[in-house]
Amino acid sequence: MKTKFIFITGGVLSSLGKGLAAASIGALLKARGLSVTIQKLDPYINVDPGTMNPFQHGEVFVTEDGAETDLDLGHYERYLDQPMSQINNFTSGSIYYSVISKERRGDYLGGTVQVIPHVTDEIKSAVLSVAQNQEDVAIIEIGGTVGDIESLPFLEAIRQLRGDLGKENVLYIHLTLVPYIKAAGEIKTKPTQHSVKELRSIGIQADIILCRCEVDLDQEIKSKIALFCNVDPDAVFTAKDVHSIYEVPLMLYDEGLDQKVAILLKLPAKNPNLQTWKGLVHRLHHFKNQVRIAIVGKYVDLKESYKSLHEALVHAGLENETQVSLTYINSQELTENNLVQKLEGAHGILVPGGFGGRGIEGKILAIRHARENSIPFLGICLGMQCAVIEFARNVLLMKKADSQEFDPDALNPVIYLMTEWYDFRDQTVQKRETCSHKGGTMRLGSYPCVLKPGTKAMLAYNTPQVMERHRHRYEFNLKYAADFEAKGMLLSGKSPDEKLVEIIELKDHPWFLGSQFHPEFKSNPMRPHPLFRDFILAAQKNAASGGVSTLNEQEVEAEFGGTA
Ligand code: GLN
Repeated sequence: MKTKFIFITGGVLSSLGKGLAAASIGALLKARGLSVTIQKLDPYINVDPGTMNPFQHGEVFVTEDGAETDLDLGHYERYLDQPMSQINNFTSGSIYYSVISKERRGDYLGGTVQVIPHVTDEIKSAVLSVAQNQEDVAIIEIGGTVGDIESLPFLEAIRQLRGDLGKENVLYIHLTLVPYIKAAGEIKTKPTQHSVKELRSIGIQADIILCRCEVDLDQEIKSKIALFCNVDPDAVFTAKDVHSIYEVPLMLYDEGLDQKVAILLKLPAKNPNLQTWKGLVHRLHHFKNQVRIAIVGKYVDLKESYKSLHEALVHAGLENETQVSLTYINSQELTENNLVQKLEGAHGILVPGGFGGRGIEGKILAIRHARENSIPFLGICLGMQCAVIEFARNVLLMKKADSQEFDPDALNPVIYLMTEWYDFRDQTVQKRETCSHKGGTMRLGSYPCVLKPGTKAMLAYNTPQVMERHRHRYEFNLKYAADFEAKGMLLSGKSPDEKLVEIIELKDHPWFLGSQFHPEFKSNPMRPHPLFRDFILAAQKNAASGGVSTLNEQEVEAEFGGTA
């Protein structure tokens, strides 16, 4: 079967959950026995989101092959349970970059290079490249909102694709907002009508309209939208607000969305097997325990910056029948004086990844608190590096211990800038200055980690070697390895050539572990990541033992698992 393409556009305003809708439709079609792939087209000019501040654009999701991508790819991986790669995310920047490179090489043979056809052709070939395994369905999410100047070339390209691929192979789904005016008790369809009209003015007639709304749309409203927007009366669906993002696939299934997609595209779809999704939602509503985790980081004001991390904690909670409640603490505001008060009630402390020296001392204070008070701790990338610095300063008494990231001339650079490492993918030694990967000087993507028997890391993974994803420049300085191990910090995971430290942990602590990689990128609601699972288990034991003050009922804001 030829791949059929579903294009998802958004209207009225952003943040309606287009990425989740795309991922959920993918999950439903997969549950119907079809092979599915997904791609995100982002209208911004950055070549990839790697250079963007997480405050602005949220998390940078790292794929196995080391691509720095939009956070929606995290949803795609979690919902489809299959890895994404470089080809699953293109930006205007990457498209233009390639067009301009071709122009410089003279590939256009002296022609005038224009948006149509050169840029649109480049977009079309990017879109078609995603179905490299002849998947049954390719879902393409167009970032931004219809009406934005930036997304016009993308919309023009997907308009042309219906002609190129044949009407029967292309479907347009438009996600809009249908506001419910509480005071009047009324549902308003006008913004949707305008948005669909705007889309039509650039030549795209939506086949399906998905309406994000606080309440269910009744048949009368749906018929009205269908009439004004020129779609089948049964092609208007409600995307109702739900408690947890993991309820979206079943909610859309109950609406009949995947069935309509299958009919319109004439897909050989079986009845869906939704057992795993049903089980997941059931577990989301039947927690037995509660734990509170303090996330001590820098990007706490924009929760999107820690998207995968948040989800990984939710997944680990599901496995442990534990509702995980998160408190984000800005490390820049943490001092010796307010530390105890700010971390009160935390059954576990997590220090996530990050860049730059701001807020480092606060993170180190929180880590010391976790180490000295036997509070379960998980440090990720920068969080692990801070745990190493804390241990060096306060246990090894190297008062000048630091990372070269914060002090290039540190007397004891326990974390230092690696200048070269072995890249198993192309079996070459990567030199930092000439690093061939995107992201320039960073170690990016999946690398092997060999686990030390008898450690908590090994106990969690229960396998001798794992692959985990990286995004960093600095590493543990092996010059100090013996000092650390002599005092009880174990190097429990290393690269196969033993040159890079991947995991550290404390011997005499209930659960204190740091990883140089980002385990959160590989967690899945059906298969929680072993390190997160054991971290939450340890936090739960801590809560049960009453070691730390237990949760106050009113304090627990319903963290029902995931944010929209
Ligand atoms: N800034 C640190 C480094 O570059 C950690 C990066 C991270 O946490 N992802 O090594």
